[in-house]
Amino acid sequence: MKKILYLQPVLQERLWGGNRLAEYRYDLPSDHTGECWGVSAYPSSCCTVRGGIYDGRRLDELWKNEPELFGGEEITEDFPLLIKIIDAQEDLSIQVHPDDEYAKEHENGACGKTECWYVLDAAEGATIVIGHHAKTKEELEEMIRDGKFRELIREIPVKAGDFFQIEPGTVHAIKAGTLVLETQESSDVTYRLYDYDRLQNGKKRPLHIEKSLDVIRTPFEPKEIRPVTCSMKGAKLTKYFDCRFYTVYKLEVDGTAEAVPLSGMFHTMSVIEGEGYIDGCRVEKGDHLILTAGYGSMKTWGRFTAIVARV
Ligand code: ZN
Repeated sequence: MKKILYLQPVLQERLWGGNRLAEYRYDLPSDHTGECWGVSAYPSSCCTVRGGIYDGRRLDELWKNEPELFGGEEITEDFPLLIKIIDAQEDLSIQVHPDDEYAKEHENGACGKTECWYVLDAAEGATIVIGHHAKTKEELEEMIRDGKFRELIREIPVKAGDFFQIEPGTVHAIKAGTLVLETQESSDVTYRLYDYDRLQNGKKRPLHIEKSLDVIRTPFEPKEIRPVTCSMKGAKLTKYFDCRFYTVYKLEVDGTAEAVPLSGMFHTMSVIEGEGYIDGCRVEKGDHLILTAGYGSMKTWGRFTAIVARV
């Protein structure tokens, strides 16, 4: 069964957000819009289908009642992925996520969070935080208790087109001036380690120091990314990373490609640049789609770039 589901994204206001998500043709609730949840079945912020025979239906409900769209008997209880575009006008808090085992035990059976970032844009001189410099758990604890966050965090330069895998237990933060497409486990469990002593409505946001200390992996070891590109006439498919939660690719279409392969289960697709067609269906920058299970291969035409994920 070959179907393309167009999703209606959910926009989220954030303390650190801006207005750049308008570049993706979204209606922003305010000038502090931090996140577009483009593919989400997360209960409080679930996407609905736009157009076609499933028009208006929620993704979480389709997952339960039309499982054959996604892979039939092979699918898990809950929709497993969450795809966001994040606009950091200001720094995000320095944070860490638990793994599935820890979250299950300490967060009422929730999932942990493994995530990855494709950098859409970054201002001149922009940086991000991935990892820390403490060599032992004792050193980590001491630096956190003494508030030595500047010395603790590993901050690195970032530019458009970079890709990062953030394992659970990794200290991380997207910083000001960066636009990121995030592919992650469908979870919202975040432990805030440091928030630059900022105020929201006159109050500091809560920190989660004890839980952070429980889950931060020490010492930090960076994940190496080795992109592999497969070129065909009219398209290029680059595989960035493969883990037990997702595989993430970039699809670059330029001209006509007769048969771009899509194997197995359903795929998500987020168009990040340009416009074109997939099997006759028009797609443009800012669209988030699901290509149903068993799609096989697609004929693409136009000039566009998309981030594609599958479980
Ligand atoms: Zn995160």
